[in-house]
Amino acid sequence: MKIDFRKFDSLFTVMEYFNTDDICKQTIAQHRWADGDVVCPYCGGHHCRVCKDGRYLCSKCNHKFNVTVGTIFENTKISLRKWFIAMYLVSSHKKGVSSHQIARDCKVTQKTAWNVLQKIRTLYKQDTKELEGEVECDEAYIGGREKNKHESKRTEGTQGRSTKTKTPVFGMVERGGTLVARKVQNTQGHTLSPIIRQFVKPGSRIYTDEYIGYHSLYDSEYTHAIVRHNANEFVVGEAYTNSIEGFWGLFKRSIFGIYHCVSAKYLQRYVDEAVFRYNTRKYKESARFHEMFRRSLNVVSYRDVRNVA
Ligand SMILES: [Zn+2]
Repeated sequence: MKIDFRKFDSLFTVMEYFNTDDICKQTIAQHRWADGDVVCPYCGGHHCRVCKDGRYLCSKCNHKFNVTVGTIFENTKISLRKWFIAMYLVSSHKKGVSSHQIARDCKVTQKTAWNVLQKIRTLYKQDTKELEGEVECDEAYIGGREKNKHESKRTEGTQGRSTKTKTPVFGMVERGGTLVARKVQNTQGHTLSPIIRQFVKPGSRIYTDEYIGYHSLYDSEYTHAIVRHNANEFVVGEAYTNSIEGFWGLFKRSIFGIYHCVSAKYLQRYVDEAVFRYNTRKYKESARFHEMFRRSLNVVSYRDVRNVA
């Protein structure tokens, strides 16, 4: 019988239940293969039997495999118990957890903790859900805080929307609903418009600030309302962008507070993590943990099974 994840409302219950790697493996097997019907990850065959060493043997393609093949736990050198603890810590901390913290809490090296966290972050990949109704759009610029650097290392003209030392991220949020955010090359209209069209249903009402990148929305399939920040006009009737700006505030605080600095290369993963937290903000701790566990088992496809991050 599948374990009810609602009981995992604290680190204590997680550690108490997942007290051996066998329990972790059993839980993975129960969730991957309902009713004990083991499916071979290589050929999709259903005739697999358990071997003496606890692995499975497919009678169709003769592959021998372990329960973690195709999951984020595949080929791991550390105990599955530590993975489960790390996943719980990550899912329950509102602003995220650093690799240093995971290293101390799980008794692993910082390098191992960093690798574990990078794999856990692959679970946050955003769904491609369409937004509709009232949608706020806005951009943020991450990194390169020039004023904290020594004068000789500063780059000129990096304030505001400059992308010389910062990476732009574009976000859209359905008021009271789902948020989507993407790292972008620049914030020009020809970059932002296709993203808006990909995620926002035609006929929706879009709120932005007066930035020129949004001018192509004037004559489009959307109703476009503008908030003029320059005129100190933050809330005019329904025209405000406070929801998305609140998200940028949280995101920037977690980047600077927990992770200190994030390279542009990995920025999308941190964006995905913050978006996942935002979109599951109404979940209980146990439900967020359950969702991450569910995602950790997601086998991409039989063919790609070896390429899983
Ligand atoms: Zn097989």
